[in-house]
Amino acid sequence: MRARQRNRKMPKQNFEVDLKKWHATTREKLVRTARNDCYDEKWGRFIPRQRLNVDQSPLPFAVTTKRTYKHMEKGGQQHNPKRQCTFRICFRPTGDQPKLGIIFRGTGKWISEDEKKAYQPDIDVYFQENAWADTKVSVEWVEKTLTEAVRGDDRFVLFCNNLTGQTWFKEAVAKLGGIVWYRLPGATDLWQPVECISSHNKTLLSNYNTAPTQQRNKQCNCRTKDECALQGKCLEMNVVHQAIVTTDTETESYVGLATNFKESFRNHTTSFRHVNKRNSTELSKHVWKLKDAKKPFNIAWKVLRKCKPYNNIQ
Ligand SMILES: [Zn+2]
Repeated sequence: MRARQRNRKMPKQNFEVDLKKWHATTREKLVRTARNDCYDEKWGRFIPRQRLNVDQSPLPFAVTTKRTYKHMEKGGQQHNPKRQCTFRICFRPTGDQPKLGIIFRGTGKWISEDEKKAYQPDIDVYFQENAWADTKVSVEWVEKTLTEAVRGDDRFVLFCNNLTGQTWFKEAVAKLGGIVWYRLPGATDLWQPVECISSHNKTLLSNYNTAPTQQRNKQCNCRTKDECALQGKCLEMNVVHQAIVTTDTETESYVGLATNFKESFRNHTTSFRHVNKRNSTELSKHVWKLKDAKKPFNIAWKVLRKCKPYNNIQ
């Protein structure tokens, strides 16, 4: 689950009181009170390099959505695009920065040693079934990325949202001499810098959704409108579409997600014509099976729904 975003219809000023209160409490409890040792005259208990901030931002794999064809099980669910990976971003105002963490979907069990060796050394790689920083991954992150980042500091404070604030996580941070401090919920976009990255990604995505190739206002560019594969809507972007292949004895349907249907459709048509492309998708495999058996067939295309490429930010 992602932190609930601020309701943007609510004016920012509504949060002013809470934000000020949050800062006051933070200052009182975190900066002024407690231990006297190593108390910095200007900064208090934590000098800037000991103030870390962590959050995550979904990384969309919009480009790869062009050809993710999946066979639709009989009576099964439609292909549901899921987040592929998430950045775990942690930083501090000064000093060397913690490594960037990346959480991929899956278990990571089947990754070969060779592949692991080829990982970019500046990035720590994690796996979680939903590519999300649950408590388990957050603890792994503390033990690996954070441990390395705070080596040499006898104390630090880690600002994070309360979603990863399970006891287990707090204990792991405490072992390193750190304190977990929750940020003010509900208004992260007003002051959380990582949120800016999310917003930036969101902007990129929305630009992507309205790319110039979309030719807004124009839904179809087929020379003969009657022959349009998508009933006059072949230029629609980011559609989950279905190909229904019928013969006189059977019907098979395939669901795909295309950023650009027209391009995807062209690729499919090519794969039906060229035997060396017969294995490029489940759909082409099926079509070639029918062609091999010399069974006449018909393919109908339709849009199941419109969607945005992997965008879990909104
Ligand atoms: Zn068309």
